[in-house]
Amino acid sequence: MAVGKLRNAKVIINQRAIYDNLANTKSHLEAGTDLFVVVKADGYGHGAIQVARIAEKAGASGFCVALLDEALDLRQAGFNEPILVLGITDPQFVTIARDNQISLTVSSTEWLKTAADFLTQVPSSAKLNVHLALDTGMGRIGFQTAEELKAAVQVLNDFTAVINFEGIFTHFATADSKNSDYFNYQYDNFNKLMAVLDKRPRYVHVANSATSLWHKVCGGNMIRFGIGTYGLNPSGTEIPDLPYELHPAMSVVASLIYVKLVKKGKSISYGATYTTSADEWIGTIPLGYADGIPRKLQGFSVLVDGNWCPIVGRVCMDQFMIKLPKRYAYGTPVTILGKSKDKTITADDLAQYLGTINYEVICGFSPRLRRKYE
Ligand SMILES: *Cc1c(COP(=O)(O)O)cnc(C)c1O
Repeated sequence: MAVGKLRNAKVIINQRAIYDNLANTKSHLEAGTDLFVVVKADGYGHGAIQVARIAEKAGASGFCVALLDEALDLRQAGFNEPILVLGITDPQFVTIARDNQISLTVSSTEWLKTAADFLTQVPSSAKLNVHLALDTGMGRIGFQTAEELKAAVQVLNDFTAVINFEGIFTHFATADSKNSDYFNYQYDNFNKLMAVLDKRPRYVHVANSATSLWHKVCGGNMIRFGIGTYGLNPSGTEIPDLPYELHPAMSVVASLIYVKLVKKGKSISYGATYTTSADEWIGTIPLGYADGIPRKLQGFSVLVDGNWCPIVGRVCMDQFMIKLPKRYAYGTPVTILGKSKDKTITADDLAQYLGTINYEVICGFSPRLRRKYE
């Protein structure tokens, strides 16, 4: 995909914000707890490699990703820290993981047996590191019962020549909610399952950002810190209080590439859904739904020179139009996410308008948009 380096639109990443978010998080961890930064989906749209570099400086000791390919990208960029793939990897690729010292997540004994076959077929002095996922109530992946977990530990004992039992973890479904009943239910399940183990592996981890921020119960020795890295509140606006400040790292800015006066009674964009009610100054912005500006954003106000300017007419694939309070010059900055004078558009503002969560907003800006690091 061509990245738009010569266009008047970009995603700006504030590296200092990421560093501060991580350094603060690290300073709040109990001694002996490792900070693994979650850089899946290209670092939630911020650039996985760049975020990983900052994370190293801020004291992260490892990384989590969703795909084996994402882990390989980090290895190829020269990162030597532990990397855990949180999703399930097809067993046919286990030797690639082993040979690159990438840790994989395991949710079934069948997987372990198949993986052991593949590993044995291509011998190596290295072992495959695995983390067992425990499904304590997320209902996504993981062992659900003590019997299943016992069986997995048995299989691991059979294959110690090729597989190293490096970690065990669970994932909470409601750590970002005010009500902690379901969280407590999952935590009980986790403790019951952990009682099956004679010996704890190197890493025991239960905490995503929300758990690490609001629940002091972990009993783990590593956290998987994702959304907080990027400066957003995991709960959106449900739990406004954070134990320390998080600074949003992403802004999206473009500039006016065309400004014109449109006479009263004329229509704007596909479907002619907007008609000027007076003579209006209309600006065109070189961003569209192919850049991750959803069509549903019609009616939302972006910022020009500290003024709210509504998106008028439908968002096109590569352009959209806004109503300006007065004539503005070609090249005037337009803020879609971030600050303009004394006003700010947050990822939560966009999420609220779109009926989604801040995570989806920041992941949604397409790779066609250049990332600029400041
Ligand atoms: C994505 C993910 C995380 C990170 O979650 P945040 O809410 O962004 O901190 C942690 N653990 C698992 C299993 C994940 O899939």
